[in-house]
Amino acid sequence: MKYKIPRGTFDILPDKSWLWQQLESTFFEVAKVYGYERIVTPIFEMSELFERSSGESSDIVQKEMYRFTDRKDRSFALRPEGTAPVVRSYVENHLDMQAKITKLYYMGPMFRYDRPQAGRYRQFYQYGVELIGSNHPYYDAEVIALQWDFLSRLGLQDIRVEINSVGCADCAKDYDAALRTYYTPHLDAMCPDCQARIETKPRRLLDCKVPACKALGKDAPSQLDFLDEPCHEHFDQVKNYLDVMKVPFVVNPKIVRGLDYYTNTAFEFINDQLGAQNSIAGGGRYNGLFEQIGGKSIPAIGFAGGFERLLLSIEKADLISGGRISPDVYAVALGDDAQAAILPLIATLRGAGLYVEYEPEKTTMKSQLKAADGKSSRFAMILGEDEVATKTVVIKNLLTKEQVTFPSSDTDIIVEHMQ
Ligand SMILES: [Zn+2]
Ligand SMILES: [Zn+2]
Repeated sequence: MKYKIPRGTFDILPDKSWLWQQLESTFFEVAKVYGYERIVTPIFEMSELFERSSGESSDIVQKEMYRFTDRKDRSFALRPEGTAPVVRSYVENHLDMQAKITKLYYMGPMFRYDRPQAGRYRQFYQYGVELIGSNHPYYDAEVIALQWDFLSRLGLQDIRVEINSVGCADCAKDYDAALRTYYTPHLDAMCPDCQARIETKPRRLLDCKVPACKALGKDAPSQLDFLDEPCHEHFDQVKNYLDVMKVPFVVNPKIVRGLDYYTNTAFEFINDQLGAQNSIAGGGRYNGLFEQIGGKSIPAIGFAGGFERLLLSIEKADLISGGRISPDVYAVALGDDAQAAILPLIATLRGAGLYVEYEPEKTTMKSQLKAADGKSSRFAMILGEDEVATKTVVIKNLLTKEQVTFPSSDTDIIVEHMQ
């Protein structure tokens, strides 16, 4: 075979797609009870949107973005994440004029040129919510509770919710200064990336995966010791709301967000069963993003999670129930006249919402009933020469083997019989 799927991507085949769909519909239901509505944005956007939102020097923009130019030499990018497009759309469509608070959710593929590994792909499927227009700490707790409810409905119980506060821009200034003081004496032992970033982005050093840098990070000052009074109060309130809403959590001061527009609450959902790629969702408040991409200042909070790791979590926890679809009725036609007469009946039953399977290449009773059995059909609808002549049809329950003959015009009664 000449053609192969691109590295880092995957097909969702019928043996998994039903489960995929179940994840989607469960998420729709949970989003709905919290009052979040769906937003669908394009898969590609102007590259500049992500350069502005993620920062030109970020790994996303420098190494991971799929960029292309169109025929008019305009630069576009396949979206590497979902928040910037939502913010772009919110501003462009003046959603702030319609309501003070806007609650949105999205779902769809994102793209990053990354090293593929278990649970990490170049095209990955994300879901997420954005609450735009309020800085109230209740909403920080609400989005965390929404994700917690979603996981609970899926039956995932051993998930750890970790929260932190990264403060506001003022808090960050003090913290950055403390980090520079801490790291500067050790700079020679650190990697070139960290050496380059200590002046401009000292918080990035906490995120570095190089062993020597990581070891130094253990004793680095904590962000929580550098919160000013309002940010401290905000964090306390978020924790209170989570307690009241019965969402279990632990505080992890090491959660840092690589991007500057994040403020206050940051959180992650961790599944330890997954090994190195153990984060199944993450998010936080991003009160600085709207200004950064050129809008007015609007507070917002959200999270994003990946379906791939969710699916891995469900498989590991042995939570798969349900399966692929099987027919309600298998249509058995014997002879040319019956073959012609059965098609209008099939159309009526399908119109009533029943899954009717029909395979005209099988012509004998034996082969058709065998196929019905193989597909685990609940009923067989049998039409032979006698039935055509008397305008009747035989409905056979394939579990109890009970057979009932109906006038073929009584489709309502036939449908009712098979409910
Ligand atoms: Zn602050
Ligand atoms: Zn480093």
